[in-house]
Amino acid sequence: MLNILYIDSTVPPDLNQKVDRAQWAKLKQARFTCACCGYQSAPSESVLSGFMQVVNKEVLCAICASALQLQRPVRNLANHGFIIMASDLSQSEVTSLSREIGFAILSGDSARRERAETVFEQLLESEITHSDFQFLTEEEPQTCAEMAVGLTVISSLNRNEYAKYFKDLRYVPNFVAFSHIYEYWSKTSS
Ligand SMILES: [Zn+2]
Repeated sequence: MLNILYIDSTVPPDLNQKVDRAQWAKLKQARFTCACCGYQSAPSESVLSGFMQVVNKEVLCAICASALQLQRPVRNLANHGFIIMASDLSQSEVTSLSREIGFAILSGDSARRERAETVFEQLLESEITHSDFQFLTEEEPQTCAEMAVGLTVISSLNRNEYAKYFKDLRYVPNFVAFSHIYEYWSKTSS
């Protein structure tokens, strides 16, 4: 299970970072397939990583990786996503749904786009509220930037406490921040 609390400060601050030999070997070995959601990407000359990356020795897609690295900017945006409360959905399901919504919005089919936007809005109706996580931060901790700030002040929580407070939280990527990745993925997977 993805633990969105894990903050890995060693990861470069962008999604299409340079791929070194070891990472390339790992990406190839995993066939550019995300260990969390199962999405398979492909490398290209301009995007060697295929917008996949190695985190904690696992290959993850850009969305699942961002769920683990809330403090990392995406396209220089700190607010690159939302935190929702969704006990009935896994991060893998939320990631796959978000990606399908992204593809539908880019599809150029207006009916499909409209339906996708409605689903996206419904997803965001489960955004966590200030009262849910008031102990984290003075800010409304609804975006991942605010959540990341909040997390830095509660590093004293132990594993069980983390599990209790955060087990139902999922990361939903911001469409604008990820649109270039959706475009790449929809091109390379067809
Ligand atoms: Zn994934």
